[in-house]
Formats: sequence, structure tokens, C-alpha cells
Amino acid sequence: MKKSQALTQIKREMATVCRKIYEKGLTYSTGGNISVRIGEDSFLIKPADYCFGDLKGRDFIVVNSRGEKMIGPKGNRPSSETPMHVTIYRDLKDINAVIHAHSPYTLVFATMGVPIEPATTFAEEELGLVPLAPYRDPGTQDLAEIAAQTLKKVEKNLYPPAKTPAIACLLERHGVLVAGKNLRQTFYALESLETTARTILWMKTIQN
Ligand SMILES: [Zn+2]
Repeated sequence: MKKSQALTQIKREMATVCRKIYEKGLTYSTGGNISVRIGEDSFLIKPADYCFGDLKGRDFIVVNSRGEKMIGPKGNRPSSETPMHVTIYRDLKDINAVIHAHSPYTLVFATMGVPIEPATTFAEEELGLVPLAPYRDPGTQDLAEIAAQTLKKVEKNLYPPAKTPAIACLLERHGVLVAGKNLRQTFYALESLETTARTILWMKTIQN
């Protein structure tokens, strides 16, 4: 397959995943962003101000490791969280896909500053304990660094180990960050984490 065909296919896959994320209510409005590593110094990333539900493959932008736009439709700017994505790729060499979302149930934990415990057998096997990255302003390099540091600790199994090829952390008062070896596994991890968060909240409701 030609390089350009492969790129088109990845963009299409990204748009499909974005639509699923939006339709499943895992993020809303223009919140959240998604990226895929496509080379040593090149990454496909969501454009700013787009809703996940509306994205087409042609909308995505190629950026370099400094987050600068290299290729992409005129008028499309890279996501405001591009620094976070490229910093994660800089620090975690096995990571090839990153999704950041404002998933409503997970957001309850992120806003309260509470890590997500693996409440079910599946959660234990999939993501283990999902820790909290302390608050930093959205879109800043400060947020990028603290997010990458937190994911690095997860990768090194400093928290109870996860068995899947995806890792996650919460961003305090902001949302969730999931990173994996490929886009599909990363999406599944986002879905699993939101399910765990919902389960814990229902458990607490029934317990009280
Ligand atoms: Zn966000």
C-alpha cells in the first residue's frame, strides 16, 4: 500500500473512532482530542474547534514533534492540546495513539480529585488503578508535562499494573487521558474506564 493510501486509511479510522466516542456520549461539544503517531517526527491530530461527531478523515492535521502544522486543510489549526499529545509521544516510545475526552462519569472523579479504583474484575485486568494528574491549565506545556509524567508512572507499573496495551490517567478538574499501542485499543480503554466510573457511582448510590 502506498504511503498516502495508508495515511487516508488511518484518518478514516480516526474519524470513525471520533464518531463512536461522540455517539456513545464519551465526550461532547468540541471537547476532547485524538492523535496517532505516523512517523518518527509526524503525528495526525484533530483540528481545534471541531466536534468529534462531525469529523471527516480529511479534517485531520499532520504536526511535527514541536506541534507545528505540517500538512492539513487550510484554516484548520491543530488542537489546543497538541502540546500534551506530542509530549506523550516524546516520553512514551511505545505509545502510538492518544485520546483525551471529557467523559461525564469519569469527569466526576477527575473533578473531585479521586483516582478510579478497579472495581470489577474486568477493570482490574484492563486498566488497573487509574491515577490523577494534578491540575494544570488546559493547553499549557505544564499540563503536557504533568500528564506525560503521570502516564509514565502508569507505564512503569508504579500503580497497580494494567494488563492491556493501553494506559490511562485522570486530569484533575478536566477529563481523562488514554494512551495505547494502537487506536482501537486506546478507544476500548476509554470506553472501559467510563463504564468503570459509572459502575462505581451506581455502587455508591445503592450503598448509601
Ligand atoms: Zn480537555
